[in-house]
Amino acid sequence: MTVGIRELTSQQQRAIESNFTRNGTLYVSDDVHSMLDCASTWDVGIPPVAQAAPHPDALLGIAADGVLREEFFGGLYFNRTIHRQAMVDPVGFDVLRSLTATSSRSTNGLVEALQPLHGGAAVTAAVADLVASGVLVEGARADVRYIEANDLAKAYLQAPTIVEAELTYGCFRACRHCAYSSSPTASTADELSASAWADVFAKLADAGVFVIQLTGGDPLFRSDAFDIVEAADRAGLSVYVRSDTVALTDENLDRLQALDNLWHIGTSIDGADEVTHDWMRGKGAFATLVERMTRLAERGVAVAAGATLHRSNAATVQEIG
Ligand code: SF4
Repeated sequence: MTVGIRELTSQQQRAIESNFTRNGTLYVSDDVHSMLDCASTWDVGIPPVAQAAPHPDALLGIAADGVLREEFFGGLYFNRTIHRQAMVDPVGFDVLRSLTATSSRSTNGLVEALQPLHGGAAVTAAVADLVASGVLVEGARADVRYIEANDLAKAYLQAPTIVEAELTYGCFRACRHCAYSSSPTASTADELSASAWADVFAKLADAGVFVIQLTGGDPLFRSDAFDIVEAADRAGLSVYVRSDTVALTDENLDRLQALDNLWHIGTSIDGADEVTHDWMRGKGAFATLVERMTRLAERGVAVAAGATLHRSNAATVQEIG
């Protein structure tokens, strides 16, 4: 069912169709990377946290801690609890915006309240689609943070969905291949201070950015790394840390797990065994990685791993997985 999609240019339509799955009035993306990277990279998807299907008579509320932004195609809604976004058309956006200004109601009451504002069947259908897609869930709260749009005449996103912050060139490793020539002795001159990063994160959150990806080098190489990670969390951004994991001792994992908005840790695995992985990343790297990933799994911290493929490991992709 299609409701009130604004006219899009063919380029916009192609971008949406190639990055999102159509689901009623919603376009749903499995991965927020798609809008930023334009599918230039492949990431291992993190399965969504299972959600119970809403009971038809239950109170509905927009999932707490969400962000809603108006966009040229309607809007983007980001659920911080499961770190996923949904793309809604103008009717869906208006329904969600109305919900942020009203207390939660029963399904029928909600539809009745919204129909005079938005008109009949379109609202009924939009609410049903929002429920079916998990954007509207059971709950008494509707404390979505609504970000005002900047200039709707412009046919591009009001803000990035995800921003990558490169905190340092320093790294515990000196890999055979590194896009940044990072190493333990790389220059760390002119790095932004932790308080300067805190200002950056506050501005990004204020602009409506959903996710901050912290990278380097290894962002955790900095002595003040966890102060910066905590500042990103305080700003209300979903936090994604890309690291070789050397710094993830129990003490540091405690700090990570205390965050409200930690999404996951991203790391690299370049071989299914010590010989292949360590050839790329240095002696002892495989043993450390396996120990750290096991520790992350035991603590229930989501972790994603990417691999740099080359002649010596390409045939072992499945084993790496
Ligand atoms: S771990 Fe990553 S950032 Fe560090 S040297 Fe290796 S490739 Fe570069």
